Amino acid sequence: MAFDHDMMDPKVCELVDHWHALHKEGRFSSLNIRDYWRLKVPEIYSPQQNCNCLRISYDEEVAQKLLFDPLESFMCGGDPSQVYQTLRQLDNPPSLCGRVFKNGDPTYGCRDCGMDPTCVLCADCFKNSAHCKHRYKISTSSGGGYCDCGDREAWKTDVFCHIHIKGQMVQQNENPLEKIPPDLTERIQLVFDTILQYAKELLTIEEAFSIPKDLELRESDREPTNMSSLYDYKDTFVTMLYNDETHTYDQVITTLERAIECSQKEAVAYATSIDREGRCIVRCSDFHNCSTSKTLMEKHTSRGGGRPLKVQVMHSYVIAHQVFASRLLTWLHNILESAQAFRLIFSDIVNKDNGSIVENIIWTDTKMWKTARVQWHRLFISGMLMDQESKKMFARIFTKHYSKMMKDFILDDHDHAVSVASLGVQLFTMPTIAHMLVADEDVLVRLLNTFLSECEKKLKDNKLALEHRSSNTSSFRRIQYILYDLKYLLGVKPEAWTDDLRRGFLHGYNLILRLLSMMQGMDPMVRQVGTHMEYEPEWESAFNLHIKLASVIPLVIEWAASDRIVLIKAYRLLLRELGDTCTEDMKRRYVRELLDYSVSCIEYDVSSAPVSIHLPLSRIAAGLTLHLDKYGLNYNSPEFHVKGKPSPEELMEPVLRTQVMIAQVHAGMWRRNGFSLINQIYFYHNVRCRQEMLDRDVMLLQIAATLIDSNEFLIHLLNRFNLMSWAREDYEINYLRGNDEDNMRQTVVLVEEYLQLVMTLVSERYTPGIGQISEEERIKKEIIQLLCIEPMPHSVLNKALPEGTNHETGMEKVIDEVADFKKAAGATKGLFELKKSYYSHYNLFFYHYTREEQSKSEVAQRLRKKNAGEEECCPPPVPPPFTVPFTMIVNVLQCDVFLHTIKTVLKRMNEAKARSVSESQLQKVLHLIGYALHEEERYHQNNDPYFHFTRRAQKIELLSLLEDLVGHHRTNTHKDLLSWTIRKYHSVLNLSAGVTKPPQVTEAALATASTSVAGNASAEKKRKADLVAQRKARIMAKMAAMQQSFIKTNETLFEETPSTVDQIPDVPEPTHMDISEQLPEDMIAIGPRQTLRIPKEIPYTCILCHQEDSVGSGEGPTGRPMVLGGLIQRSTVLSRNRALRVEQPENHDPLILPADLHWGVHTSSCGHAMHAQCWQKYFEDVLTKERRRPYRFRQNLSFDIEKSEYLCPLCEALCNTALPLLPGVTYTAAKMRNTQDVPPAILMADWLKGLQAVLKLKGGDGKEEKDELQNCAEGIWTSAPFPKVRLEIMALSSLEAADTFSYLFNHPGSTTIPVIESHTSDMMANFAHAVYMHGLGVNPNFSSRRIPLMVWDTVAYTIHTLEQTQRNANRALLTALSSRQHDCLAALVKFAAHVPSCVKKKQHIEGASLRLLSVVLEGGESAPCFLEWDTFSVLVTLSLSLPSIFPNIQGMAIGSAQDLYLLQVCFLAHLVQLLITYEPQNTEMDVDLDYDNNELVEEQSSSGTNSDASWLVSVLTCCRALANLPPLNVDPQHLLDYIKENSLPFLRCCGLFFHFLTEVPTPEELQSSVWVPESEFYCLLRYLGLSMNSLRSTFDNPALMELVNRWCSDNRVGTLVAGAGSEGCVQSWTRINQLVSLPPDYSELINTVSQFPCPASSGDDSRTPTMCLVCGKMLCSQSYCCQTEFPEGTRQMVGACTYHAHHCGAGTGIFLRVRECKILLLSGRIKGCFVNPPYLDEYGETDQGLKRGNPLHLDNTQYGRLHAIWLSHAIPDTIAHTMESNSNVVATEWQHL
Ligand SMILES: [Zn+2]
Ligand SMILES: [Zn+2]
Ligand SMILES: [Zn+2]
Ligand SMILES: [Zn+2]
Ligand SMILES: [Zn+2]
Ligand SMILES: [Zn+2]
Ligand SMILES: [Zn+2]
Repeated sequence: MAFDHDMMDPKVCELVDHWHALHKEGRFSSLNIRDYWRLKVPEIYSPQQNCNCLRISYDEEVAQKLLFDPLESFMCGGDPSQVYQTLRQLDNPPSLCGRVFKNGDPTYGCRDCGMDPTCVLCADCFKNSAHCKHRYKISTSSGGGYCDCGDREAWKTDVFCHIHIKGQMVQQNENPLEKIPPDLTERIQLVFDTILQYAKELLTIEEAFSIPKDLELRESDREPTNMSSLYDYKDTFVTMLYNDETHTYDQVITTLERAIECSQKEAVAYATSIDREGRCIVRCSDFHNCSTSKTLMEKHTSRGGGRPLKVQVMHSYVIAHQVFASRLLTWLHNILESAQAFRLIFSDIVNKDNGSIVENIIWTDTKMWKTARVQWHRLFISGMLMDQESKKMFARIFTKHYSKMMKDFILDDHDHAVSVASLGVQLFTMPTIAHMLVADEDVLVRLLNTFLSECEKKLKDNKLALEHRSSNTSSFRRIQYILYDLKYLLGVKPEAWTDDLRRGFLHGYNLILRLLSMMQGMDPMVRQVGTHMEYEPEWESAFNLHIKLASVIPLVIEWAASDRIVLIKAYRLLLRELGDTCTEDMKRRYVRELLDYSVSCIEYDVSSAPVSIHLPLSRIAAGLTLHLDKYGLNYNSPEFHVKGKPSPEELMEPVLRTQVMIAQVHAGMWRRNGFSLINQIYFYHNVRCRQEMLDRDVMLLQIAATLIDSNEFLIHLLNRFNLMSWAREDYEINYLRGNDEDNMRQTVVLVEEYLQLVMTLVSERYTPGIGQISEEERIKKEIIQLLCIEPMPHSVLNKALPEGTNHETGMEKVIDEVADFKKAAGATKGLFELKKSYYSHYNLFFYHYTREEQSKSEVAQRLRKKNAGEEECCPPPVPPPFTVPFTMIVNVLQCDVFLHTIKTVLKRMNEAKARSVSESQLQKVLHLIGYALHEEERYHQNNDPYFHFTRRAQKIELLSLLEDLVGHHRTNTHKDLLSWTIRKYHSVLNLSAGVTKPPQVTEAALATASTSVAGNASAEKKRKADLVAQRKARIMAKMAAMQQSFIKTNETLFEETPSTVDQIPDVPEPTHMDISEQLPEDMIAIGPRQTLRIPKEIPYTCILCHQEDSVGSGEGPTGRPMVLGGLIQRSTVLSRNRALRVEQPENHDPLILPADLHWGVHTSSCGHAMHAQCWQKYFEDVLTKERRRPYRFRQNLSFDIEKSEYLCPLCEALCNTALPLLPGVTYTAAKMRNTQDVPPAILMADWLKGLQAVLKLKGGDGKEEKDELQNCAEGIWTSAPFPKVRLEIMALSSLEAADTFSYLFNHPGSTTIPVIESHTSDMMANFAHAVYMHGLGVNPNFSSRRIPLMVWDTVAYTIHTLEQTQRNANRALLTALSSRQHDCLAALVKFAAHVPSCVKKKQHIEGASLRLLSVVLEGGESAPCFLEWDTFSVLVTLSLSLPSIFPNIQGMAIGSAQDLYLLQVCFLAHLVQLLITYEPQNTEMDVDLDYDNNELVEEQSSSGTNSDASWLVSVLTCCRALANLPPLNVDPQHLLDYIKENSLPFLRCCGLFFHFLTEVPTPEELQSSVWVPESEFYCLLRYLGLSMNSLRSTFDNPALMELVNRWCSDNRVGTLVAGAGSEGCVQSWTRINQLVSLPPDYSELINTVSQFPCPASSGDDSRTPTMCLVCGKMLCSQSYCCQTEFPEGTRQMVGACTYHAHHCGAGTGIFLRVRECKILLLSGRIKGCFVNPPYLDEYGETDQGLKRGNPLHLDNTQYGRLHAIWLSHAIPDTIAHTMESNSNVVATEWQHL
């Protein structure tokens, strides 16, 4: 905004001066400004004809200069920036934050201090507030709201953050407007007014061709010379396409492709833009063209009779003015935010004429497109809602037009969030405003009338009838937003009532009653007899309405109950309404008699007449009645003598019918009514609905029980349950006889249900107002009952508890009292476990239990008691006492009808022939007796003689009835409960007999009534001992099992480990000084001293045919060929240079893996063996089966048959090839060496000379054979025949040298290759080819010469991976290797050794070997410099290919002397790599410190290591000199440590390779549980046959030094070393890649991405910002805007993640979806899954999708687990497993993420 007056265009200066002059004269008005805009605006903001509509951009600089500068300059009357500054200084420091949230911004609520969940803070305020230490809740805004910091009505405490408290401390009552010169105020007013009018007129234009007269271009505008072109704008038109919610993205895209003939990509861009903005210009041309496009689009989208897309042809200058109007609103918004003075002026303007502008915008809201609407809403928030008075004013206008606004909203098809109605939450949640609106503006009536008018359209027989499929469903769904507003308004009950407020509330209340009476009895059901229901009746709509109302009704009750006058009036209104619903059928009575009682009952048959589950009117009656006592009122108070008032039995009748219906459903009588009924009953009972359903019903029946005589009450119940005849003494004899089996069963269940209902009514007292308990105790009770089912994690428990109106369960307040939070070892998620002392509160018949929960908890509790040595029963707990108004209920337990009922059950229990009883009835009767006994005990204690159960029970001789049942076979299940009851009975009898124990004892007995008498100290002891014994046994069993499986998986190892290992008593502490001299030679894998061993045949069982076969010696047919399932994947996991990748796989030369490992091929296997034949058949079956499947169903498949993927038939691991199992390589070698004594030794120098001879005699130039490797300059070389080479060596060196050299290639050990049958060699060729094809991602080519090289590369890369995985886990080389890792590598390495015998042409092997040999020994410009080699891969390829280098000689690597020499060469190359890139420590401090140590070390260490250090220094100096690098000052010891540390990974790789090649067992140390890197270094030197204690002696050979000379003199070395330094070369040789580091606090992460813009659409926020965890790049995922065509030219669009994964992870990716806190794994383009994020809340639980919003923190163990999955290449397999296990989930189109 800031600008310099001097910089202003002179013409503009003139203009402004002119305006000022006019203004001073009082002749200036908005018309002057508009007249200027009339010409300038079209000039700047008109789109050009035939422009690219996707790239319309305007010259904003010119706009600033010509449009905004004059405006600001005029308004300020001087330098605007100075004026703004002054105005800002007048501001009272802000005490209100009010920052407006954008979509995706993080918001923080405080669960301790927030008034309601809509009160939120922005990130800045939150971080600076006290709430960040409270129980906060994080979520992301959907846009539109603002920060409530500083709003006293939003927070109970800590209203201000540290930033805004400052505003609070200053005096607030200064009005900044008083300090502004009046002429400035006047001009600001003028400008604001002009803008508002202009924007209002332009943005709400409905007529597309005309604009306000004074803005029209006139013929006279042509006159001044250059205006003619401007006038041409009159002939330019645009086609404008609008957003709607009825057409899909794809429909819009295809329509556009056809109507404006654009590419798919462009169409996607248009559609994205329309979705974001609400509209988009798709064509800019003359009128004819634009109309044609419009017609086409309308025609295309209205096909099939649908509503067409909204398209308009518009004048381009109309567009220009609209664009400018929208810019002006943004400008205004920014100005308003900048200073309070502006806001005050703004609100004055808006409020004048009774807020005509607000009114206007509300009225035209739905006529505007998305962004225009949102701009206005933002303007109102920033201009009106920050100031209390303006806000009130705005709220009044908003309320006045509420009805019209909602009606428009219903007809509109946009989201609620972009409707002006969404501002309701900002206004109504503020209590002072809400109360003002209720009192003065009749807001409740306005809201409810709007809602009711919609309901009235849906009335049928005076009841709401919501049909599911009616066309008005959506309008009814939309109108329900009113109920949210209603909830906001009633959110806080008034502290003080005024008459206006009472009137306003009661008016609204009356309408709520009307609504409830429309719902009373809706969706009635009639029991279906005979046939099933033909169609399922609709039930969901009613429940959805119920759920919304259920959060309003408790608030209504709370309001009504807070004032005596209001309560009386409300209750009277309610009674009248209830009276009206008492229809005629309630008045029909008949008389029922039982014992001596005759009762006039309502005549109704639930099993044949309609019954409904929706009874909101009865339920609100229950809620209000509960509060009467507070004001000394009750149902019969004179205040409530209302005409038509229902009698108590009429009051409870509807609810009782529902109860009976549910009982009948349980009895199986409603079986034919289908799922609609089942679902309704489920939700009736479910935690989401039951507070305003089941709970209120029980409450109402309890109320009725206090109003009706107990005997009468029970008869009403019995009658409604249809059990009057059952209750007769002669029932079994006279009534049952005629009944059929089915009827009898139903009666049995109905009796159970009846007893259950009675029990619920007398025992459920955990509702404040009914029992003498607090709200906390109610929650505790719920938690206790839930935890009696099983221990639960926080989230599950919290979900199972009912929520209050603020979506809080109140669980945290009480949970620690009743439960302990326990985490099992290794588990991330913890569980709440009930504290011991609370088990006695367990109520088996708790009314919130489902039947499953009931039986599950019973099983758990019985088991618990059994284990504790207690009686196996769960007697009733002692309930809390009733409140005074409810004490009457206990009388039910001693009334005659009750006693008669239990007598009936107990007697029939004892009658052998009785058929109408059940064990369950007995159990319930015993519980009821138990409750009665508890109650008597309580009354006795209070010295209250009113309740005396035992005395009354004598009438029916209850005690003897009970005692008669002892030992009866029918009571077996409940014998413990029976004896408990009898015991209890006696103890209560004793109480009243006066022979009581001391009172404390009875008190204790009361408190722990349910713990058994037997539960004494000795039982406790025994229980503990039992527990210990059990645990011991469990552990022993587990150990045995583990040993068993260990032996099994390590079978080979156990048998093969030579006895020498056993004989070494204890491996002494490996101190490196003496180890080599003193220990006997341990295992050595290669070289002349190689440990001899006979490999064994290994038996495998085929997992498909279960037959055993062995892969053995290769002598003769030993068995059918076998394979392992294998997975080959391209990989970048180990890459140390993510900038590099293989761009052209078709031409890539895989001779050597690059030193930075920027590409590689990883092979894995699940280790399950199959016969090759069995596998082939299985694989073909899978193929045919999947090919037959229609294409669309393949989407959800966890494997991609196009990539020859399949799942292992045993473990479902993902595979894409089969890895052949081959015999070991040393078999023949070992045999030979037994017979032959000492093989002739060859000198290193002679060996090198021999190889040089080979190179010298090589032939060919690679031209003769055309392969795909044309680009490779080396071409193909052929080696000379062996005799020729031999002659050459003799000439070069000596005969002896020639002989020893020949021995290397001739001796039978390495040339006797086992016979491989053709089927096996086919399998081998297949596998080798698979590595080539999957590894490079190229087309099949069985004769490619790159095949063997790819196999060797994958061996090296896979071993690198394993080495790093082990190192990352801090493990010694072979520690804790899984059997699948072990089996896979063993098979892979053996296979790689056999590769030469399965290639199409052996020359390929010879050529490759020669090429590599030449690279290593000769170098040269075209060969890669030695710093670019992965030396380990060089070693693998050379050692496996060299034995076959000569024509006609087929050799095999067996760990011979030659392999040792190769190792030395490669190891040396690696050492030189390390040396030449060494960077000495710079800090002198360190050197000084080390110096002392050095002396110590030197004294202790043998001369060997000491000389190593100096030798390394000399090599280093020499190398640097050769490479023309400046000399270095080096600390020898530090250098030696560096070398040891950094060359260890190389040695580890070699160790793995030669171990699996030669099968020589490894020293114990390599498997030890503690990893000591330095000691392992020496151990590996020994195992690899190198000199144990000195590097120098190994390499101090002139022939080798010559090689070093050659490597280092390469002139590329200098640049490479310099380049390596920048990346940190010290790390990069051994670095293990990590996933990006994440902030410890999740909210920090979400803050950082809240501003992340979508890279494809300028400046817009990304909806699903997603972070690549490999490289840290942010992507805009799952959004059309960032889709890319991939592979190019296929018309397949993929999402940003898929595209990125292809490049970053060679097709595999691991991402964090930041806003949802979800980890996304992707693989192979079409597969993916979500896994748990590494962020956990304090209960160790994740929160995918931020559903709970608890604070989340990074869990390093979890993140480490993800890292390990990634590092070990297990992502594809993890995806396959996850997809397999939820295959029925709706298919996600992973490629679009
Ligand atoms: Zn804030
Ligand atoms: Zn603040
Ligand atoms: Zn707080
Ligand atoms: Zn088989
Ligand atoms: Zn498997
Ligand atoms: Zn995007
Ligand atoms: Zn990445």
